[in-house]
Amino acid sequence: MPPPRLPAKLEQLPRVALAHLPTPLEPMANLTRHVGGAQMLVKRDDCTGLAMGGNKIRQLEFYLGDALSREADALLITGAVQSNFVRSAIAGGNRLGMQSHVQLERRVERDDHLYATSGNVLLDHLLGATIHHYPDGEDEAGADRQLESIAAELRNDGHRPYVIHLAPGHAPLGALGYVLAAEELVQQAQSKALVFDEVVVASGSGHTHAGLLFGLRWLACPAVVTGVCVRRDATQQRERILTRTHEIAELLEVDNPVTADDIVLTDAFLAPGYGRVSDGTRDAISLAARHESLLVDPVYTGKVMAATLKRATETDATIVFVHTGGTPALFAYQQELAE
Ligand SMILES: *Cc1c(COP(=O)(O)O)cnc(C)c1O
Repeated sequence: MPPPRLPAKLEQLPRVALAHLPTPLEPMANLTRHVGGAQMLVKRDDCTGLAMGGNKIRQLEFYLGDALSREADALLITGAVQSNFVRSAIAGGNRLGMQSHVQLERRVERDDHLYATSGNVLLDHLLGATIHHYPDGEDEAGADRQLESIAAELRNDGHRPYVIHLAPGHAPLGALGYVLAAEELVQQAQSKALVFDEVVVASGSGHTHAGLLFGLRWLACPAVVTGVCVRRDATQQRERILTRTHEIAELLEVDNPVTADDIVLTDAFLAPGYGRVSDGTRDAISLAARHESLLVDPVYTGKVMAATLKRATETDATIVFVHTGGTPALFAYQQELAE
């Protein structure tokens, strides 16, 4: 039987090449030895290349493809102050000759100098975007409304703005990058003659989690995909991921291969909340650095690493940790991490 192929529609949607692909799939031999449980591998999506990489580069290939097909000349996006997506979007926009207007939301109650100016914020300035602020804290709908009003102003001035919308209800173009990543992962594993039983990945906006899960199930790969909650609790996130997979199916004009039972989430590593570091996360960051020289971040991948290490003690399965990037944020969290 020939291997299953991804839905044909995926090839027809506009996409621009931005990422260095395929990213490596590497063993974490030292950590595996240290923990003494499951065999652990890492999918190096921190190595996607563009302006310090991460998972948003695969996602942007579809958003910016869409933007180009609409002849947009300006890019708009909203995110946390230390958002990797904002930094990556500006970088992608630069490559395509689009100016960026970004909105930084005060999702984390911090105003200290490092958080406000270092890490991704420094890169936002270097890459050269117009920076707006949304001071009201966690408010997805409010932040989207303010972004729309910036887009309206640009339209009034004769521009053709393109808004990258991450909330449910908008086509999850970014998830398509991870449907493709699922195929890349399956092919890499096959070429290395290895079988992976579980994948552990951050679940934030849910594009990465939903896209990977969709792609793996479409390709008949039965690996358990555990989403590690980084922003919302597991109950809220479950709804979001299920909705996302339906939206992906709609976009690709196929039936959804993902069932409610496929959606596995843990919010055990979320505390003390979005963008805040627990002792467990700090330990995971340190272990990954000391044993593997892998730099994981305080907001996303440190929590996912903590979840992976815990899971490794519970099973003798083969686990793939998805390193979605975020390394620049380390420098904004110097105070929490260096003590
Ligand atoms: C955005 C981000 C995530 C979460 O990805 P989603 O697709 O939004 O769920 C995970 N890790 C890093 C480093 C990120 O920047």
